[in-house]
Amino acid sequence: MIEVTRACLSCNDHLRGRTDKKFCNDYCRNAYNNSLNSDGNKNVRNINHILRKNRRILESMLHPGRHIAKMSKQKLNAKGFSFLYFTHITTNRKGSRYHFCYEYGYLILDGDGVIVIKRNAKTE
Ligand SMILES: [Zn+2]
Repeated sequence: MIEVTRACLSCNDHLRGRTDKKFCNDYCRNAYNNSLNSDGNKNVRNINHILRKNRRILESMLHPGRHIAKMSKQKLNAKGFSFLYFTHITTNRKGSRYHFCYEYGYLILDGDGVIVIKRNAKTE
């Protein structure tokens, strides 16, 4: 067997034993996996939070039972809406691009207008 010098991915200590070993022990394995997960989880959590807030704001813009409303972009901004985050984009037959946060979508009009719609997700 070829002797290769390897370091633990967690603490950088020299590893002995099987060549497929990546960690000294379970403690190092867990510490490494936790550090990976926490960063990823934090990003996912932050973005999910923004998307859910956006969805709540769009939902609050529609009167109960209605599926469309028009308002100013300013009104969404004032509520803390983030135009940077959305779940998907659809283009209708007229070529209008709607950005969606889950089942709520919006279309930015010329000027300061925004149309908000509710549409259940299509599964293709
Ligand atoms: Zn280690």
